[in-house]
Amino acid sequence: MTSQKKPLSLAHYMRLLKSKLPCYFPVYIRTLKLSDDIHGECQLTEDNTFLLKINKNDLLVIQKDTLFHEYAHVLAWTPGHMDLADHSASWGVAYARIWRTIHNENEGADGSL
Ligand SMILES: [Zn+2]
Repeated sequence: MTSQKKPLSLAHYMRLLKSKLPCYFPVYIRTLKLSDDIHGECQLTEDNTFLLKINKNDLLVIQKDTLFHEYAHVLAWTPGHMDLADHSASWGVAYARIWRTIHNENEGADGSL
């Protein structure tokens, strides 16, 4: 028997990532209108807080991918190890950890993200 599941919100995934893959600095997420060619941004502010901006005009499935992408930057940028290359090996490892966390969360469910 199958059932239609309500898509999980960005807030759900943010809570999941913060709980399973905490980072050194506080992280906040905002959905707001960005330029059409930008899905999201990750900023480290002067008070050592990460602000993830997600384009509110994108579909939820794209917003989720953007959240995972930007959160990998958060995990890769740590004090003393600020790997500022945009998508370096450490970013790739962080992205893989996120993928695994989300995959494990969905095991036993319908497998969709
Ligand atoms: Zn990036």
